[in-house]
Amino acid sequence: MLEELKPHEVFRWFEEITRIPHCSYKEEKLSSFLVEFAKERKLEWYQDEKKNVIIKKRASKGKEKAPAVILQGHMDMVCEKLADSNHNFDTDPLELAIEEDWLRANNTTLGGDDGIAVSYMLAILDSGEIQHGPLECLFTTSEEMGMEGAFAVTKEHLEGKYLFNIDGEVEGDLLVGCSGGIVITSTHPIEKEKVLGEAKSFRLKLQGLEGGHSGQEIHKSRGNSIKCIGRILYSEVENLRILSLKGGSKHNAIPTNSEAEFLLLGENTEEVLEKIHQKAEEIRKEYSVSDPNFEITIESWRL
Ligand SMILES: [Zn+2]
Repeated sequence: MLEELKPHEVFRWFEEITRIPHCSYKEEKLSSFLVEFAKERKLEWYQDEKKNVIIKKRASKGKEKAPAVILQGHMDMVCEKLADSNHNFDTDPLELAIEEDWLRANNTTLGGDDGIAVSYMLAILDSGEIQHGPLECLFTTSEEMGMEGAFAVTKEHLEGKYLFNIDGEVEGDLLVGCSGGIVITSTHPIEKEKVLGEAKSFRLKLQGLEGGHSGQEIHKSRGNSIKCIGRILYSEVENLRILSLKGGSKHNAIPTNSEAEFLLLGENTEEVLEKIHQKAEEIRKEYSVSDPNFEITIESWRL
């Protein structure tokens, strides 16, 4: 389907990759595909226990003295689909569509990040015409989960001193350096208490926030549903006890949803509930420009 797109070889490989499942943590099939690719072409290869793959190709004639160059990209893609799609990322090929200047997938993410890097590397490794020095193509896994594959790569299988990472944002730009990220696991002791007497139970739901990438869209002042729910719950801390609390789905996405179940203690629960509603409304209004579809609901339920 992509035969019209240029460079032809790159998009031929890209299409091939969209037929092989490769969500983060589920790269085995693509990793094995790369190993088979190398074996068929008698290229030197190495696969580690994290399923990272290195494929080496000797220099073209006359380029043997050039310094070895490492090309690198990640195998895994972010797998997201529309709520009503029954696409199975573990088995189904992506359904591609070309719309004007854009290549996209129907109902799912495309995996352009970073399938295009894998495709470029395969096209170069497969080519008998492109002139190059000694090449080392490094395909890493679980990048989207915090570069887990890359952390497991050791230098003993690589000789190149120059590494080109093919995972940029702006076409035609080469960057020196990288944005950073940090994953923090924080553990807090909780105090459980027996609720004596009457208590009313409620479910608080925040949804419809715009979300977005925690790096690329952080300057847009969009609401973070975890922070917002914290503000609501904390506003009536005296009379409120939390039963459950959850929010967010990915470490590199601004959380769009969160949910809590809580109890209201004491006599004037109506009054306290009214105050919680007011707080929720105040927060919703705060984000009415950045997050016009932000919705906060509070419903009562029976324990
Ligand atoms: Zn990427």
